[in-house]
Amino acid sequence: MAIGYSDEHHGGETVNRPRVFCDWCEQPIQDAHDGNVFWYHDRPSDLYFNHKRCARYHDVHLREVRSGEGVVVLAEELPVFLSQLLANVGMEAIE
Ligand SMILES: [Zn+2]
Repeated sequence: MAIGYSDEHHGGETVNRPRVFCDWCEQPIQDAHDGNVFWYHDRPSDLYFNHKRCARYHDVHLREVRSGEGVVVLAEELPVFLSQLLANVGMEAIE
């Protein structure tokens, strides 16, 4: 799932907004500082998001899925990833 949409309720109004979901527990990542991005070195466009509390289990799972293929699971903290993404589209990071 990773990037999805969810309804948020504000003052009687419902707004559907993009949200980052954990690929391990499928719950939204509410705080960027609590998130990571994982990817296989040979498939950098396939991104996997997770909470820091889910990262160890998710990492083991990703390694097991492709065990014997000689792949490496790379990781970045979510705030760094999002800041780099914003910079690459001409925007500054928002803290
Ligand atoms: Zn999680």
